[in-house]
Amino acid sequence: MFNFNPLLNEFPEYKPSYSKDLKNMINLSKNENPFDIPDEIKNIFFKKIQEINLNRYPELTSDTIRQKIADFFNYYFRNYEITLDKNNIIVGNGSDELISYTIKIFNGDHVIVCPPTFEMYEFYSTLNNVGIKKVPLNNNFEISEVEKKVDENTRLVFICSPNNPTGNLQPEEEILKVLKTGVPVVMDEAYADFSKTSMIKYLEEYPNLIILKTFSKAFGLAGIRAGTLIANQSIVNQIMKIKSPYSFNVLSEKMVETIIENYDYVRKNIDYIIHERELLSQDLKAYTMKSDSNFLLLDLSKIKDITADSAYEFFLQNNIIVRKYEGVLENKIRVTIGTKEENQIFLECFNELLNYHNLRFTKEL
Ligand code: PMP
Repeated sequence: MFNFNPLLNEFPEYKPSYSKDLKNMINLSKNENPFDIPDEIKNIFFKKIQEINLNRYPELTSDTIRQKIADFFNYYFRNYEITLDKNNIIVGNGSDELISYTIKIFNGDHVIVCPPTFEMYEFYSTLNNVGIKKVPLNNNFEISEVEKKVDENTRLVFICSPNNPTGNLQPEEEILKVLKTGVPVVMDEAYADFSKTSMIKYLEEYPNLIILKTFSKAFGLAGIRAGTLIANQSIVNQIMKIKSPYSFNVLSEKMVETIIENYDYVRKNIDYIIHERELLSQDLKAYTMKSDSNFLLLDLSKIKDITADSAYEFFLQNNIIVRKYEGVLENKIRVTIGTKEENQIFLECFNELLNYHNLRFTKEL
């Protein structure tokens, strides 16, 4: 049953044993965007807020922002020639909220998840009393033969691509095999902006495809809590029936509107992060695999004497927060791509960790 709280792992700085001042820490643990929205763009947002009445509720079904998001995707994915409108879009208080809705609207006694992956699929399924069938990723952290595990009791399949916490894209042909079974497939594309790909091109062909996106990562709006779901109209209608009215507040609405109107800024930001990711991966290539997201998963098992726990503590002592894992990922840490300066500090710290251990190892010999 329900015996874990993934949030405690997701936010390690909340653990009471650490009394460090977070402002002086480099937080590379939450896959956030390292840059706050620039003042010019915040000012556009403030102006929009000044023009609305905060004493009034937001639009009941968020029609205006849903249409703006649909138009934005039609433009953004113009190469795929998709034609979305508001009836294909749901907005939520972070994509976390939308994960929970997808679990509620279908029948079947279990969902399929492919660990190691984002824990919230399991968290919300358990909260909704829905069973979990685990189909682990293969040695390359790719989904494999998931379609063979789908049966008449499968409520839906969650696929995260690029996958959190491994960072890799899932093979399109494997995803298509699952889609072909007809089971609802939730493609979580929280990090897809860093891979510049999307399964959105298959929406018309596969009415069972549901895409989740977030404004928390590439768009730099984690504090605003805004996510979006893209699907065919009948799935959207079902979700609208169970969704709380007014759940998308006017501040989120106006900030999302502002950021998509200023997408040039986001695009430059994404390019910066991808560039930094490639530099850091190159420097750490002995410990990591290719990432298509804004983080790297580092395998410490290749380094004698270093455990994820000891590395985590070492970084913490040096004011850097990374994410560590248990179970199949117990020797691994996840590091978010930060600013150039932050990445440099992380790298220096990592080298220090290696030197320290090599030194000790040599001495012991
Ligand atoms: N999906 C994945 C794979 C994530 O890593 C996250 C955030 N860590 C989310 C969804 C949720 O994002 P948000 O609720 O901020 O939109």
